[in-house]
Amino acid sequence: MSQPVDWSALWNIECQAVACEHCNNAYLVPSSVGVVRCPTCQGDDLDPLEADAEQMAYSQPPELVLGYTIEETNALQRILKFTDNIPLRPKDIQPQNLRGRLRRVYLPMWLVDGDIQATWQAEAGYFYEVVSHREQLASGQWQSREVKERRTRWEPRVGRLARHYDNVIAPALERFGRIRQALGDSDISKAAAYTPEAVQSAFVCLPDRSPDDAWAEAIKGFQSSAAEECRKAAEADEIREYRWSPEVEKRNWTQLLIPFYSTYYLDDEGEPRMIYINGQTGQVWGHRQTSLRRAQTAALISAGVALLFFVLSLLAFFLAVAVPPVVALGVIGLLVAAVFGIVGLVRLLHASQFNKKNQADLGFTL
Ligand SMILES: [Zn+2]
Repeated sequence: MSQPVDWSALWNIECQAVACEHCNNAYLVPSSVGVVRCPTCQGDDLDPLEADAEQMAYSQPPELVLGYTIEETNALQRILKFTDNIPLRPKDIQPQNLRGRLRRVYLPMWLVDGDIQATWQAEAGYFYEVVSHREQLASGQWQSREVKERRTRWEPRVGRLARHYDNVIAPALERFGRIRQALGDSDISKAAAYTPEAVQSAFVCLPDRSPDDAWAEAIKGFQSSAAEECRKAAEADEIREYRWSPEVEKRNWTQLLIPFYSTYYLDDEGEPRMIYINGQTGQVWGHRQTSLRRAQTAALISAGVALLFFVLSLLAFFLAVAVPPVVALGVIGLLVAAVFGIVGLVRLLHASQFNKKNQADLGFTL
């Protein structure tokens, strides 16, 4: 009979595995953090993950961890810059709230090693320069100008390759493409060997994509490494049309963790709206929702001012029966009333359009 995974013993940290019912992500949560809410969607239904090793795509500690280069103070500054661009911000957007809710979240990538035997064919490109002369008419005289142009000579190449490759990366999360689009790439060359301290006080997301599913992408990584080596071996400047038939042996899968932060603010309805930061590059992405309540208050104040000026204008028109020049004041009052009325409406429309435009993003969480 298979046993439940003993994460604490394997990873050498005091932790427990939980799964979020809302977004279906699974995490290792260090005991020091305590079970709180899901760091990516703020759902509060975190259930203990009672999976045995066979049900998990991977349960070993990662081989490599990419450290945080963006510290929390810096992360907060970047978040505030991001929220500054939200018009009529919900009043919950306060530095102390965003800082207090800041969580460290590591996302996994696969690292694949393998021995490759392959035959390959490609076109190797060699740069060369062509010098030509262009004649041009200037100040009534023909002048000759030398023009240098770089061209590429393509030559077919074939060969055999037998190589061991280490740490080719492939996504370990189904949603990785979208995460990359929102938060950019990370420079994984700076990753270091796993130590329990490296993941202290962080949530570690567990893979939801099995090695079998990730293989199609991993083999592309092997192919581009192989193509680059063939280019170097052919002493070529470029390589194209690289085709190969590889046989891969001794596949070995390990994990790499990439650092992110998450925090959130509450919108008018008290719904959490998420903000994420790439912990290595500082790139920020988040839900953007304006406060319709604030927009409505502002519109009501504008409408009140408009009404006041409208009433004053009416009074001026009555007065004008006795003192005709007062008509001018009445007309000015009407114009002011119209301006306030229009400004109020436009701000309200703008706020609701802003929320509608950003509505689709609300469906995405890290
Ligand atoms: Zn969740």
